[in-house]
Amino acid sequence: MQFEKLIAHRIAGEETSGASSRTSPVYDPATGEVQAEVLLAEASDVDAAVAAAREAFAEWSQASLSRRAKVMFAFRELLNEHVDELARIVSSEHGKVLEDAKGEVLRGLEVVEFACGIPHLLKGEFSDQVSTTVDAYSFRQPLGVCAGITPFNFPAMVPMWMHPVAIACGNTFVLKPSERDPSASNLVAELYAEAGLPAGVFNVVHGDKVAVDALLDHPDVAGVSFVGSTPIAQYVHARGTEKRKRVQALGGAKNHAVVMPSADLGYAADQLAAAGFGSAGQRCMAISVAVAIGDAGDALVDEVARRAREIRVGPGLESASEMGPVVTPQARERIVDYIGQGAEAGARLTVDGRELEMDGGGFWVGPTLIDQVSPEMSVYRDEIFGPVLSVVRRGSLEEAIELINRNPYANGAAIFTGSGYEARRFQREVEVGMIGINVPIPVPMAFYSFGGWKDSLFGDHHIHGPEGVRFYTRGKAITARWPATQASAADAGSMNFPTSN
Ligand code: NAD
Repeated sequence: MQFEKLIAHRIAGEETSGASSRTSPVYDPATGEVQAEVLLAEASDVDAAVAAAREAFAEWSQASLSRRAKVMFAFRELLNEHVDELARIVSSEHGKVLEDAKGEVLRGLEVVEFACGIPHLLKGEFSDQVSTTVDAYSFRQPLGVCAGITPFNFPAMVPMWMHPVAIACGNTFVLKPSERDPSASNLVAELYAEAGLPAGVFNVVHGDKVAVDALLDHPDVAGVSFVGSTPIAQYVHARGTEKRKRVQALGGAKNHAVVMPSADLGYAADQLAAAGFGSAGQRCMAISVAVAIGDAGDALVDEVARRAREIRVGPGLESASEMGPVVTPQARERIVDYIGQGAEAGARLTVDGRELEMDGGGFWVGPTLIDQVSPEMSVYRDEIFGPVLSVVRRGSLEEAIELINRNPYANGAAIFTGSGYEARRFQREVEVGMIGINVPIPVPMAFYSFGGWKDSLFGDHHIHGPEGVRFYTRGKAITARWPATQASAADAGSMNFPTSN
């Protein structure tokens, strides 16, 4: 092929192009140049990856808990040694600043640490003597071949929400990362191999809808974890469950942060600027709506606007940069269009990121603060996924809670307050999956589970933590009788339904 760098699949420990001939560009978002092309899998490439994973399952599902834990410990050490390299890869393809990229690798690594505890996490239940000479117990077993389909915005962390837990539980895995920033996953595959994971347990196929559909339809794929936008999450859930797979599909978000007059406004403004504009707003837990209560509004808008203007925007790999570009030219166009729609609808553009001027190419949008936004405007309704923070004014906490609960998205929500009463009421009455109290981005630690409600999650399981272990395993309950001799069994030969005695 004519491209300087071609990113290939990793199947059963081998780098392969398979049957792929279609490719997709991988940009350097800071320059706008195409730095590589990634292969897009055809259905036969997916078949090859699933076949490798299925074959590997026979051995890996029988591996002892301590062996699985040892591989995870070794993988953890190798990841730790490669944090900087992974972060550079993420930053160069996604555009986020290096420290932020490092942060995502470290949060992913925490899930690997959680998975190292798999012998403890898979302990079953046991009831002695439920009936005379009868014991009852339960344990959990892996599903089989599991697939992960992941978004561009956390190319290292989001896949690590899935595969360490799935693999530690005894499953094998096929990852289909985002075609926008695919390279981190290939390095992860190399590190797993170096850690002693048998070939075929972790595979990477790159691709688009063709690969996703092939995974969803494949009869040997037992479970699918998806993270991405809401329309695709809903589609993946519907198609996967129709094919009798277990599916968890995490969707988009519109996260609100309520700022009460009782809050420390300086602190709240700092946190809102960081959570609204960090990673150029391309986080599923970014704050995209600030709800200013009563007379907190004017001072808050002034403070956030001042901070927004001070943010140093520049290439992710330059150490002075605090915010990088957005991921593709299409993403930039979309964000710029939404900002225009906000202005046309009558909202006030307090800081207009369209005015940012940068040298050279690149997909730049500056931090944007839009005040006086109302719920019917598209800047409020839709997930923009860019550095755009809308401010909605409300009179009371009650009105703010009502606003949040009317929104179809329900990933995260935060409150800034100096009152325990307000915080407690908020945490109990707000209908979203993750709540922050004076914490703007309440991403749960690896040993809790991550996930939203309503249109932010299709399926019954949140991801990683205890719910991740449940998702990647299924339970079995055993009832066993061991009398001294078979002849002494109390109800031997009874025709009646068994009861305990
Ligand atoms: P996306 O939905 O466009 O893509 C996600 C995955 O789906 C990618 O692997 C992509 O190749 C695949 N895909 C895209 N279009 C498809 C189609 N028509 N059919 C089948 N598969 C398809 O999302 P994105 O733009 O990569 O990521 C941003 C989105 O992800 C945002 O909406 C963000 O909120 C969401 N997100 C959610 C969470 C969460 O935890 N809820 C976390 C991170 C990102």
